[in-house]
Amino acid sequence: MPNKLAIIGFPYDEQSSFMRGAAEAPPLIRSAFWSEASNLWSETGVDLGAKDIFFDAGDLKLGSGVETLGEIERSIARLLGDGLRPISLGGDHAITYPIIKAFSQKYPKLTILHFDAHPDLYDEFQGNRYSHACPFARIMAARLVSRPIQVGIRAMTGHQREQVSRFGVEVVEMKDWRDDLNFTFDSPVYISFDMDGLDPAFAPGVSHREPGGLSTRQALDLILRVEAPIVGADIVEFNPKTDASGVTEMVCAKLLKEIAGKMLQSRP
Ligand code: MN
Ligand code: MN
Repeated sequence: MPNKLAIIGFPYDEQSSFMRGAAEAPPLIRSAFWSEASNLWSETGVDLGAKDIFFDAGDLKLGSGVETLGEIERSIARLLGDGLRPISLGGDHAITYPIIKAFSQKYPKLTILHFDAHPDLYDEFQGNRYSHACPFARIMAARLVSRPIQVGIRAMTGHQREQVSRFGVEVVEMKDWRDDLNFTFDSPVYISFDMDGLDPAFAPGVSHREPGGLSTRQALDLILRVEAPIVGADIVEFNPKTDASGVTEMVCAKLLKEIAGKMLQSRP
């Protein structure tokens, strides 16, 4: 497996159902990541400030409309074709469907470890099948991943519970969370991290605040316990418009740092 990581930003919030703003996130996550307020050593002991760790593909200049999803897919396919492991900075969660479309071409067996308050399994939401409330319905209907796992969920609905059964999604609802939760993986892992999976006390800068969520530490610990190659990730739904204290951008940067550190450690 190639070792070098790619960072790419998707300034895209067209599919947000309630509040725009996530499009402004990518440059803020980057600047928090490189900020001298912290250092660049991951908890796994990797110096992410070393040369040749990252290729920064910048922020994709996107048009509008559903064609945009194709642009996102092609940009990820290019990075994968170059032997890189992409970490995407969103943007709203709608970007994960085209990202996973590209990943599925390279990884026919793939586990997706999805952190979120919401299952995002609506067949359509407000008449939109590409809404940020729907990406995992699209991913599962197209059979793009072999094993979907969701954690942090605390806004399940009747329809989405049916979708969970229909698609065979492994859901660990927040009410059933245990700090020693662990998974055994038999395929590479992709991490999709919706910032509202965290409790709004830790990450208030999101469009849909759902109390009763994960602490930053609980989420990090689960990521650090992954014993499988992590081939890509996204960090989505950070909304700078609601991040009055500026703390959420730093939480995004911490997730980027620890996911990247774990990806480099997990190299076979
Ligand atoms: Mn969410
Ligand atoms: Mn989501």
